[in-house]
Amino acid sequence: MNPVAQLFNLQKTDIELNRIENRFQQLEAEINADQTVYKAEQKLLEAKNKQIKLSQALRSIEENRKQIQIKIEITDKKLYSGSIKAPKELQDLQSELTMNKNILKSMEEDELQAMIECEQHEVYFKQCEENLKSTRAASTAKHSLALGEKSQLSLEKDRLLRERSAIQSSIPDELNNLYLQLKKNKHGLAVSKITENNCESCGASITPAMVQTVRALKEVVLCPSCGRILYAG
Ligand SMILES: [Zn+2]
Repeated sequence: MNPVAQLFNLQKTDIELNRIENRFQQLEAEINADQTVYKAEQKLLEAKNKQIKLSQALRSIEENRKQIQIKIEITDKKLYSGSIKAPKELQDLQSELTMNKNILKSMEEDELQAMIECEQHEVYFKQCEENLKSTRAASTAKHSLALGEKSQLSLEKDRLLRERSAIQSSIPDELNNLYLQLKKNKHGLAVSKITENNCESCGASITPAMVQTVRALKEVVLCPSCGRILYAG
């Protein structure tokens, strides 16, 4: 096969390699951008911290309530033991008892409230756990597709690179260098086909004599307008 035709094949391979590279990067960005699992983990962590705080608060109310109950029992015993006779002392004890009973009542209400809050939060916590589980499963499924495609692309890339190096080895160095130079300067397109006497890339018309020269494959002809290597196909 003549070198220009080989260059055209090389270009086809490069375009394909470029497409693979772009898709590869797109997939990586897609995987990296997926924050759903992270967010679900954060939500569960926050719920866990709140659960700890709520149960600590409940325990502390319980503790205080027990202390007051003990105080009440002690006062109660004193009051009805018959050992205290002085009316003033009895009256003081009685008002202390009344005060503590009021405190106890209010504490019991707080305790009930705290218990309800704990139970309600427990339901929310379980929901967060479930949410993380399903988010992980969905993410794994979604990424397994992307990961599968990535490994497919890697295989394809390896194949194309082998193909590329085989093609390149059949092209003279000078032409190869020209190709690389043009590829760099002409947005990745160094070789342009001639279609109906026109350069396919820039649309410039190519004279029949020039087309003839390109077909003869004796020399490398550049498009007079865009400077790409012309290929007659
Ligand atoms: Zn052109």
